[in-house]
Amino acid sequence: MQQQRLRIALQKSGKLSEGSFELLNKCSFKLRASKNHYLIQSNELNTSFLLIRDDDIPGFVDSDASDIGIVGENGYFEYILENPQHNLEVVAKLKFAYCRLSIAVPQDGDIKTIADLNGKTIATSYPESLRDFLNKNNIDAKILVMHGSVELAPKIAIADAICDLVSTGATLKENALVELKVIFESEAVLIGRKNASSEIRERTQELVFRLQSVINAKDSKYIMLHIDKDQIEQLQKLLPGCESPTVLPLHGSDNKVAVHVVSKEGVFWDTIAKLKSIGASSILVLPIEKMME
Ligand code: ATP
Ligand code: ZN
Repeated sequence: MQQQRLRIALQKSGKLSEGSFELLNKCSFKLRASKNHYLIQSNELNTSFLLIRDDDIPGFVDSDASDIGIVGENGYFEYILENPQHNLEVVAKLKFAYCRLSIAVPQDGDIKTIADLNGKTIATSYPESLRDFLNKNNIDAKILVMHGSVELAPKIAIADAICDLVSTGATLKENALVELKVIFESEAVLIGRKNASSEIRERTQELVFRLQSVINAKDSKYIMLHIDKDQIEQLQKLLPGCESPTVLPLHGSDNKVAVHVVSKEGVFWDTIAKLKSIGASSILVLPIEKMME
């Protein structure tokens, strides 16, 4: 019998789509965003990609219209609060689209603590997440649901505060708002159904293996250098994740060796300067494409 395609829901366009496409393309999928395409089929792992709005992704997966999907953790959280009978789970964290859901208030206003939100109106596109926070903190505030331009609500006096996604804080600043409280930290996640068939689970794991190989490699570097043998301990202190470096003899030298090591954190100029200060030379820093553990 022919294998069914693994159906994967992605955001068609927006803050999640670019990162989703980039990550999947590094896993050998050849996806290209296009205005008119809502379905892309790929022979790679026999998959089909559904391109939809991010808000629809949890519902698609939950109702078996898609097998898995990439969403912001905040969107997933909002969905499961709204649908307590849901059947969803987070399969993997994907380490992009970092942002936070925060309550923000006018910078010159009289709301200074979360207790000051009592009796106030807060505009948001994430009413369930906000309600959950307010309940847990015994705050009695009115929630005004808006589907966009939430940051304008205090300016036009329809709300006293907002609860919205923040990444750099530039939008808040432009609108004379300050962050009062972070209520949820988010990144992109792969979601699936708890009761998926064993075949879907297995095939999802094949994809997760690829995704994680690329994610693990993202900040890692392969470093090659020459150094005195007796400086290797110092070197290990400088390079995080360098527990067991490969040490190779150098032809014609008794005390200098070549060291090859994978560093799991980025290697910055100041690290290179420190390596030089302990006598390292011929330093090469190479990107790693995939890393299987
Ligand atoms: P759609 O048309 O698909 O409904 P949208 O306008 O609702 O799109 P986006 O603004 O693209 O959604 O945000 C989608 C998700 O991306 C958010 O739910 C959040 O997880 C994440 N996100 C939002 N803003 C940022 C940001 N500035 N930086 C990184 N990630 C973000
Ligand atoms: Zn959306």
